[in-house]
Amino acid sequence: FDAAAHDYLARLNAQQRTAVEHGVDPAAKNPFHIAGPLLVIAGAGSGKTDTLAHRVTHLLANGVDPRRILLLTFSRRAATEMRRRVERIAWRALGADAAALASGLNWSGTFHGIGARLLRECAVQIGLSPTFTIHDREDSADLMNLIRHERGCSTKDQRFPLKGTCLSIYSRVVNAQLPLQTVLDTVYPWCANWHDELRALFAAYVEAKQKQDVLDYDDLLLYCSHMMAVPALGAQVGERFDHVLVDEYQDTNALQATILRGLKPDGRGLMVVGDDAQSIYSFRAATVRNILDFPSHFDPPARIVTLEQNYRSTQAILDASNAVISLATERYTKNLWSERSSAQRPSLIHVKDEADQARYVCARILEHREAGLPLKSQAVLFRASDHSGPLEVELTVRNIPFVKFGGLKFLDTAHVKDVLAVLRFAENPRDRVAGFRVMQLLPGVGPVTAGRALDAVAASEDAGAALRAFAPGARAFEDWAAFAELFADLRAGAHRWPADLDRVRVWYEPHLLQKFDDAPMRIADLVQLTHIASSYPSREQFLTELTLDPPDATSDESGVPLRDEDYLILSTIHSAKGQEWNAVFVLNGVDGCIPSDLATGSPDEIEEERRLLYVAMTRAKDELEIVVPQRFYVTQQTAHGDRHVYGSRTRFIPNSLLPRFASASWPRDPGTTPTSPEQARVHIDLAAQMRKMWG
Ligand code: ATP
Ligand code: MG
Repeated sequence: FDAAAHDYLARLNAQQRTAVEHGVDPAAKNPFHIAGPLLVIAGAGSGKTDTLAHRVTHLLANGVDPRRILLLTFSRRAATEMRRRVERIAWRALGADAAALASGLNWSGTFHGIGARLLRECAVQIGLSPTFTIHDREDSADLMNLIRHERGCSTKDQRFPLKGTCLSIYSRVVNAQLPLQTVLDTVYPWCANWHDELRALFAAYVEAKQKQDVLDYDDLLLYCSHMMAVPALGAQVGERFDHVLVDEYQDTNALQATILRGLKPDGRGLMVVGDDAQSIYSFRAATVRNILDFPSHFDPPARIVTLEQNYRSTQAILDASNAVISLATERYTKNLWSERSSAQRPSLIHVKDEADQARYVCARILEHREAGLPLKSQAVLFRASDHSGPLEVELTVRNIPFVKFGGLKFLDTAHVKDVLAVLRFAENPRDRVAGFRVMQLLPGVGPVTAGRALDAVAASEDAGAALRAFAPGARAFEDWAAFAELFADLRAGAHRWPADLDRVRVWYEPHLLQKFDDAPMRIADLVQLTHIASSYPSREQFLTELTLDPPDATSDESGVPLRDEDYLILSTIHSAKGQEWNAVFVLNGVDGCIPSDLATGSPDEIEEERRLLYVAMTRAKDELEIVVPQRFYVTQQTAHGDRHVYGSRTRFIPNSLLPRFASASWPRDPGTTPTSPEQARVHIDLAAQMRKMWG
């Protein structure tokens, strides 16, 4: 490369440049020198992710082999986006050869995804079967439930925690690396009496997973962190990478920190970036301590770079967001400023109810589009995935295409799961959750028969033969034979990937027609699944990646929209992390929604909800509207049980912050119904004064 052509650095401000160039000295031409640890801690929109992308480009430009860079992002989508950013920067500044290097950044993805890859590679060394399959949350809950029943937990006492709660407790213990009793006392006090039973249940759960060669999400991190902690293995994996870069570090948990320390014990080559004010995953045991304590983990301590200029939002949006976060009880203070001035404050829009909210948002989105702002530059954000229901209906009626992030995933639908279970069972015949699911598709096969068949398969060296030899009841005979044949084919690799999937689809279609009323739509989904499958090199990789990070649900029944089509983004706030749009709408700015709990939230939980609103607001570049429905039912827990009440404006925007916002009502019909709780109160006060005046 021509070192003089480094004008891609010219765009950066001084602090960004410090971070990008940290320890990289083009003059020294010594690629073996790797700098000490680096932390970039800075507010939203200050260019953290951008700085990370520039650093990767800079490393490539200075001769670092892309295969020796490990890039850890929050989602697979973020990893893809990062590679694209690097490619773009490299292309503009350094030309095609440099851009081509970016496609060599093979080691980029989530901790879970990268973990799965490393574990598979090292499986034999750590006593795992290299053909292990991965359980998603639903599979894990199914397995947990199976064991709950086997152990008679729920029959002994009806109050025993439900399968989902059991799994959450288990997951928390693993991810936070805390004793069970501590987790019960602090997070699940109402389950604290079940300590001994839960401990035994979890032991049985772990044993079942091992016997079946399955790993759940938590295992991917847990096994990986244990692997890294073995010095010889940690070093062996760590040596493959000269540089390890992590985005959104504030949302990592104890296990993820252990993995990083195992990879890079002295921190050399390690760079993490994040914002403590945006930490929103403590419910998954993420801890903001990771980022706050990062510098002192190393000796000498990590270099810290802070960024202060926000390049994303207008000053008015920033003022409002800063005001919201400034009321937080604890934070690492940052002063963000922007050069992007605007006369327009963010708005608080009062509407009657959710139906009006949906109509309002659609109307505004269309107005924006009329004015030249494509749908893709707009997004609607909400606290919980099911909050977008009425809007989705309205969008569909008005023919506005949209993609939903963080919602019910395409892969969570029953028919897609059926097909994937067949593939998974073929990949790993010990996987009982997959096996049960598949066998019970066959008419005449119930749990008992399936259980016996799975035992026979697990006991045999040749799973295909064992399945063929198994005698189900007479009613299932023919279907069983057909399935056994399919299974043997898949086991033997008789078809090349992704033809495997077509073969499964053909076998499955008659069962699908039996099982579902809306079969045509579901068949279309399966065709879509085949398209998705063709972009993966193997069945194993397809299953791993899809289980870990499924594609997003879409409005289009055929699945993922074409890249150059224009569509609106609907997203939970959690899934909107790290992204930005010109216009952002936040739904249900109501207490009981943000924060999601009216009265029961602990102070820590309430603080996390405040940060969540901050994350939502800071996604906006030019326009931000928070919609507040007047009639939005929220649940209030009282001594006499749950009560449904109308919510009022979120407590995170108290009256003192109102000057930061422009308030309006929709539809505008002055003089009729009062439009906000405050106004309603004023009405009443005035009336009282009038009476007093005359009386
Ligand atoms: P978040 O905390 O939300 O993840 P971030 O700190 O990662 O935000 P980025 O997404 O990297 O911020 O950057 C925000 C926007 O600012 C992007 O559009 C980016 O291109 C732009 N940007 C970053 N640095 C600069 C710069 N030096 N000059 C101009 N634009 C910049
Ligand atoms: Mg970012």
